[in-house]
Amino acid sequence: MADIVKNLIELYGSPGGSAGRGGSLRLRRFEDVSGLCAAEFSDHDSFFVTFREGMLFIFKPYVPHVVPETGTAFVDSYFYAYRELYDAKRRLLEDLKAVYPEAETCRRGYKGLLLSLGFGRLLHSTLVWIKPFGTFFCVEIIDTSPSAYSPAREGTPAGPDGEPPEDPACRTCGKCSAACPSGALTASGFDRSRCLRQRQFDSAEPGDPSEKEMGNRLLGCNECQLSCPRNAGIPGKIKRPGNDYYALFDLDVLAENCCRPGFKKSIYAEILGYNYAKPLKVLARTLSAMLNDDPRKHLGTVKKLTCLENNYAEPLLKRYIELCEAPEKENAAPCCEDAACCEDAACCEDADCSENARGGA
Ligand code: SF4
Ligand code: SF4
Repeated sequence: MADIVKNLIELYGSPGGSAGRGGSLRLRRFEDVSGLCAAEFSDHDSFFVTFREGMLFIFKPYVPHVVPETGTAFVDSYFYAYRELYDAKRRLLEDLKAVYPEAETCRRGYKGLLLSLGFGRLLHSTLVWIKPFGTFFCVEIIDTSPSAYSPAREGTPAGPDGEPPEDPACRTCGKCSAACPSGALTASGFDRSRCLRQRQFDSAEPGDPSEKEMGNRLLGCNECQLSCPRNAGIPGKIKRPGNDYYALFDLDVLAENCCRPGFKKSIYAEILGYNYAKPLKVLARTLSAMLNDDPRKHLGTVKKLTCLENNYAEPLLKRYIELCEAPEKENAAPCCEDAACCEDAACCEDADCSENARGGA
């Protein structure tokens, strides 16, 4: 604690006291939260910072968003939190160079570093659990002396599968494996290629059979974390989104917006992060979410968008319409397998069904 407090006071001043050299960071308190120092930017929520082995760890805790039931795409608060954290790290790095000229962003695997420096435990869900935040945090690391060596700052030795060893206490629980919607987590381990969060980084066509598991998730999946008993009672640290947020992620609104020029620089980019706000990628995810929602409800929007004559979006939109209309044709086939019944529509009391049966004859 001593180093970080001394250096941060020098840079930013003390809470309610002397002014420091920097302007953008305000220290709210020096409270020791499990060895971490709570800090606050004037335009952001709280961060927690600490120095270990010459590295500055900046943590940003968050509360997971609730997955909306229908009509709205789900984007987890992790992505909000990470945008803030990234900005905070960038500003801190610039300022810290006054004290540590060699300082740079640490590129080593953060899990190994956290574990080797005694921050927490590696859970079966492959996430690191830390006392004040559970698994609901993101972290950035600034290395103030990149050339320094110590065994701890090299990270935890890997287990046989190349990952740090899992907390043995996890082996008797299994709640995260049971909650995982895609079968990525099982008692025997983690299959990254099946994890929804991982697949959200990849390109996907609407209608890919695996997309069913995605539901209305545009970015994020918290099922394994929400089911974990070790996350019970973890306090929240991020504001819940307001109604404006849900209006932005209404599936029809989102589909229209990502077909318009300037999407990559819009409010969506600020929420999703610039790396994730690629219009086509967002459109593909949105169309999949629409197919999982109530496809016919969104067909009007999608048909309207085909007028945009966007060469890149056009095949995706066409594919959506094909997928959306295909089941309708299939449904128009005889409503039951009894041919005699279909010839005699009167045997069925469902008027629509009888219409179909006649139409198909
Ligand atoms: S993030 Fe979702 S898909 Fe990935 S392991 Fe956890 S529950 Fe399964
Ligand atoms: S749900 Fe159980 S097995 Fe999974 S990470 Fe949490 S404690 Fe470990």
